[in-house]
Parts: sequence; structure tokens; C-alpha cells
Amino acid sequence: MAKQNKDEQRLNDTIKELPVIPVKEDLVIFPYMPPVPPFPPHHIALSGESVTAAVDDAMVDGSRLICIFKLHEDKDKKELKIKDLHPVGSLVHIIKYRKEDENVLFLAQGRARIRIDEIIQTEPFIKARVQIIEEAANETTVESEALIRSVLSLFQKIVELSSRYQEEFSIIAENIDEPGRLADYIAAALNLKSEDKQLLLETVPIKDRLERLIVSLTKELDLLELESKIQSNAQEVINKGQREYFLREQMKAIQDELGETDDLGLEIEEMREQIEKANMPEKAKAAAEKELNRLSQMHASSPESTVSRNYLDWLINLPWDVSTEDRLEISHAKQILDEDHYDLEKVKDRILEYLAVRLLKQDMKGPILCFVGPPGVGKTSLGKSIARAMERKFVRISLGGIHDEAEIRGHRRTYIGSMPGRIVKSLRQAESNNPVFMLDEIDKLGSDFRGDPASALLEVLDPEQNNTFVDNYLDVPFDLSKVMFITTANQLYTIPPALLDRMEVLELPGYTTNEKLMIAKQYLISRQLEAHGINADQLSIMDDAIRQIVDTYTREAGVRNLERELGTICRKVARQVAEGNETPTHVTPADLPDYLGVTKFYSEVAERQGEVGVVTGMSATAYGGEILFVEATRMTGKGKLILTGQIGDVMQESAQAALSYVKSQSEYLHIKSDFFQKNDIHVHVPSGAIPKDGPSAGITIATALASLATGQKVIPDVAMTGEITLRGRVLPIGGLKGKTLAAKQAGIKTVILPQRNQKDLAEVPDDAKDGVEFVSVNHMSEVFEFVFKSAS
Ligand code: ADP
Repeated sequence: MAKQNKDEQRLNDTIKELPVIPVKEDLVIFPYMPPVPPFPPHHIALSGESVTAAVDDAMVDGSRLICIFKLHEDKDKKELKIKDLHPVGSLVHIIKYRKEDENVLFLAQGRARIRIDEIIQTEPFIKARVQIIEEAANETTVESEALIRSVLSLFQKIVELSSRYQEEFSIIAENIDEPGRLADYIAAALNLKSEDKQLLLETVPIKDRLERLIVSLTKELDLLELESKIQSNAQEVINKGQREYFLREQMKAIQDELGETDDLGLEIEEMREQIEKANMPEKAKAAAEKELNRLSQMHASSPESTVSRNYLDWLINLPWDVSTEDRLEISHAKQILDEDHYDLEKVKDRILEYLAVRLLKQDMKGPILCFVGPPGVGKTSLGKSIARAMERKFVRISLGGIHDEAEIRGHRRTYIGSMPGRIVKSLRQAESNNPVFMLDEIDKLGSDFRGDPASALLEVLDPEQNNTFVDNYLDVPFDLSKVMFITTANQLYTIPPALLDRMEVLELPGYTTNEKLMIAKQYLISRQLEAHGINADQLSIMDDAIRQIVDTYTREAGVRNLERELGTICRKVARQVAEGNETPTHVTPADLPDYLGVTKFYSEVAERQGEVGVVTGMSATAYGGEILFVEATRMTGKGKLILTGQIGDVMQESAQAALSYVKSQSEYLHIKSDFFQKNDIHVHVPSGAIPKDGPSAGITIATALASLATGQKVIPDVAMTGEITLRGRVLPIGGLKGKTLAAKQAGIKTVILPQRNQKDLAEVPDDAKDGVEFVSVNHMSEVFEFVFKSAS
């Protein structure tokens, strides 16, 4: 019975009727306070009539006890129901309090966790019957021990890391034996969110409470670590910035002291503006800005800053966003082309077609035009006319002798004195990103250990990739797709095949004497007169005189030297005029030696004819068609073949084939049976300074060898061209027009050509064919028959 009473008593002890204050504020009070300070602060400030009334009641009662429960977020204090409150609250002992009107400030201490059994009254304050939740007895298991250790070590770390917590917190925590109390103490001390705190308050089983606390501690530790990392990074940045600022100020002071003014800042600002204005594409702008930042950190007079400035200067001054507006009017283009050039109808037509396609397609993709022909036939001037017709800028670079890829693509900036390549340089010069860009002498492009310029050019000319052309120096892409590239070459066969593939070839083989006369009369003379400040009344040159200049003062396919000679006459007349001689000058053929000196060329043909073993051939060289003499001679020996005169591989092989063929025909030609065993044969092609190649001299060499071996002369005024096979067949050759022009000019009367080239004669202007007989052959025997039979 006694025992039952005792239990009843305890139950009564744990059930009390007490004032309740529901709170919305971030206020969770844990039951345990350590006996020594520092406590986690529990200064509570609340307001409202019901709060004052509740506190009054607690004080009057003498118990000084009130209950604090957290309200669910969306609930109100009016007409309060139990379910509006969180299930677990705190029993609080008021240590001190002060009332100010409706506000109550008090210092309180948590005593226990409580639950509400029943609300007894709600006016003037809430009163409820509450039940105290007793802590379970302290039972140390391995598991709880481990949990406690984790809690302590995490808490310690947090205290160390954050200045928010006093160091004593962790010492006190270590001295709390009860795990439940420890958890409550740390939960109260920690800067947790109020929901987390409430959750910990509601977690009655101690093991669960510790586990939940560990989660909160770990979260807090992570946050703190991140926070301190962010802070230290920020600190680092600030320190670096401060250091730089300090050093720069120092540098300024030193410069001032030395009398060196620093305009760099100003210059940088200027450059920044220019970068904005240049309207660069994103990548280029980013590179420019990066470089500008680098520059701003350099000493104004350091060599490094010069390099940096140079780079920026290039970036700023390139025509990233500058283009000229195209005039694509076919009739206008035709007019300009005609204005600047005599004849060249086929080429002009093709150019106009090309422009027409551009007009319709509105882009510059498509094959690249390639003008092929000897010097002085108007390749460059056609390019200039195209630019003029389209109202585009014109730039031109010569690729002749370029071996180094860097000439095209530039040197990396790591080299001292490095520069962009020629493409970029020319664009800067053009001041527009869509000029007509002429690449001269593409047939003379070299390649060696310094890289392959042809492959760089391929990229430049390829419409699929040239919109992102990267110059090594600039190191950012430049869009070349709007540029109209035109290439020129003297001959086709040395152009790298991959490049040739991209191009559409337009041949300009050279002019006949009549054509040159017309060009001189209609274009060159008036230009030269103007260039020398005289007019047509003061100087006229007779047609015969012009012909004479063409025939004896120049030997060329184009008109460059003709123009020069005409210039010389103009210069001399200009001097006479300047000296006061007012009488008009008429230049006749007889006057030419006075103006131009003795004739420079004479017909070699007449002189060389009639020699055994000498035959006139025709070749197509880079300078246009030429006649050449193949000389064969013999000396006692063992049948060796010696070849001289800068002969290329193909021509050498062709000489071997010619020799073999002639040997095989010994009987038919009546050559002595031991002729080739007892003699060494020497074949020479004079004008040794000019390299010659190609198979087209085959029949000429064979004829020279036959002439030598048989001792028969070749009939006069004959020139020939054609490839020879071992069986004596005559194969077709190229460049017939140029060759015929040269033969005609040299006074040749008969041209022997392969049968299969007969059709090409249609391309040869009539005045070049005038007075020349053309003999077409299929086989070497026909050649022999013609040149020897007729002679005998
Ligand atoms: P290329 O580039 O083929 O070496 P250019 O274009 O420099 O030759 O021509 C040399 C000179 O001859 C230029 O003054 C050019 O105007 C003139 N010329 C060439 N062909 C013609 C032509 N068909 N009509 C008028 N002038 C010409």
C-alpha cells in the first residue's frame, strides 16, 4: 500500500497545472543548464497581455514555473487547441524578470521536457495540465559511448573553427557525464535553426537524440569549413590586390623620382576604347582584353611591354568588321575590263561569268581564279581591274621563293621580333576584310624543313575552313571567307597539285606582234606619255617603229619590256621638251637606235641553220614560248650519252628515249653499224642559264641525233615540238599558242607538230599563223622524211 502511495505521489509530482506561453518566436529552451557559466543565454523577451498574466501567476504562485510551447507556424494563439502546439515544450524556471508595459523580459532556465495533457483555461492566460517527461536512466553502452565521442569531437572542432563559440563551451561539454544532458547542452549552445532545435527537443530517447545531434553537428561543421575557405580565398585576393597596389604606387614614386613619366595608364585606356571600336569577334576581343590586362601590369619601358603593345596594335588595327560594299554590276565590270585591256576576250568572259555567279549566289565560295601565263601579259592588271569593277580594295603578295610556312601563317609570339604572316599583314594594309587578294607566283612556292607553305595556303584558299584562319602570331581566328583570292602563275606544272585542284585556270599565253602593236597604241603609249608629262602632240611613234621595237628590242610573250622601251623614248622626248625643243617628235624605225641604242635581239635561226646535228625546237617556258636549239655532237668513245644545258629529269629521259629510238632505226636511216659503239654523244641545249624541262623536245632531240649520225642537214626554217615514244610515235604537247608565237617571231616558216595538236591551232591567232606552214605528224618516220628528204 505504501509503495502504491509513493508512486501516486511521483505521478502527482510529474503532473502539474501551470501557465503556458505559446510562442512563435525562434525560442527553444533545453532543460539542462550546467552549474557553472558560461551558459547558453536564455534571455527571453515576450509581449502580450496573456504573457504578463501568465508570468504574474507563476510569481504569485511562488513556483516561478511556466511552460513554453512552440506554436505550429500557421496557427494562432486564439482559441488554442492542443494540436496547435508542438507536442513537446519546456518547463522553464524564471530566475529574474522585468515588466515594461506589455513586454516581459526574463532570464530563465530550462528544467524539463513537458507534454500537455489538457488545457484548463485560455483566459486571461492559458493554463494547462502538463506532464513532465522524465529522462531515462543513464545506461552506458559501447554504442552510446561511441556516439558521445563523436558528438564531443565534432563539437570541439566547431568551437575551434568558429569565433562564435567560446572555448569554454567544449571544456564544459567534456565534463558533462549524462549523455542526455550533454546533448541538450550542445543543442542549446549550437547556432542551429529553430526547427532543428525543436526536433532535438522532441527527441526523447537519448540514443536517437545523440544521433540526430551528430547530423546537425556535421552539417554545422561543413558549413563552417566552407565559410572559412571562402573567407580565406577572399583574404588572399584582397592581399594580392593590396600588394600589387602597394608595389605599383611604389613604382610610380620611383618613376616620379627618376623623372620618368608613366603614360601607360593613359595608353591602356586609349587601347581599351580602340578594342571596343574595333568590333572584334568574341575570341579576338577576349585575347585583346587579356593582353591589355597583362600590359597594365608591366613596366612601361620594359621590352616585354613592347611585345605586348605590338600584339595589341595588330589586333586593334585589323579590319575585323570593316568591309567595302560590293558593286556587282556585270555591264560595269565589262566596261572596266575593256577599258584596261585589249582583247583577252575569253579571259574577260570567264571573269564576268565568275562575277555573275557571285552576284546570284551572294557569297565568295567557289573555285579560285588562277591566271597562268608569262610575265607582262596582264595578269596583275586584270586583278586590279576586277577590284576596280567591284569597288573592292586590291592587295597583292608574291609567293615566289617562299619556303617557310611562317611567311604565310606568321611566327608564334614566343619568337623575338615575331610578326603575323603575309596574309594578315596584307589585310591590315587593305583596311578591309573583303579585298581582292592576289597571290602571285604560286608556281614558285618552295617547301623544305621550315614547313610546307603550300599546306598553309590550302587552308587560306579553302572556303570550308578559311573563315577560321588562325595566324600563329595572332593566335585567334580571322575570317577570310569574304576575301576574293586570285592567284597567278607563270606555268602550271610546278603548282602543287592539291592547290591546283582548288583553282580554275585561265591561260594568258602571250601576244602576237600585231596584238602588241595594238596594246601599245591603245594603252601603253598613252600611259607612258602621261607618266612622263608629255602629250600626243609632242610625241608620236610610227606603227613600224613599234613593230621594230617588238621584234628587235624585246623578246617576250608579254608587253612589259615593250612598255619599258616606250617609256625610254618618252623620257628622252620629255627631256627635249623640257630643254625647250618645241618641235613635235615622230619616231620612225630609223630613229630607234638614237633612243634605244643598238638592237638587242637578232634572229639566231638564220645563223644556226645548215649545221649537221643542230635542230630548232620550241618550248613553253615560264616566260612564254621560246625557240631553242638542240645541238648534238660526237667524239670518239664508247657510246656514252652526255646531256648538258640545265635539262630537267623529264627532258633527260626523253633524250634517252630519243637515242634508243634512233639506235633502233640505224638500218632504216643508213647509220653505220658501229657508230654508236665507237662514239660518245653529247647533246646540249644552249641558253644554259634557263632551266628547261618537259618531254616536248623529244622529236627535236631524235632529229638532232639522226642528223648527227647520218651527216644530213635539216631543211632551213623548220621548228618542231612533240614527245617521242620508244617506238617512235609522236605524242601531243601543251602550250602550242606560245610556241607558235615564238616561232613566228623568230622567222620560222614551217612548224612540225603532233597530229593530236592540230585542233589546238584554232586557238592560235591568225596573224601568228600567217606565213607559217604547219605539218602534223603521227610518227617519227614522217619527221625524218620531211626534214631530210626535202633537204637532199
Ligand atoms: P603580269 O602580271 O602578267 O606579269 P602585268 O599585269 O603587270 O603583267 O602587265 C604588264 C603591263 O602590261 C601592265 O602595264 C599592263 O597594263 C599591260 N598589259 C598587259 N596586257 C595588256 C592588255 N591586254 N591590254 C592592255 N594592257 C596590257
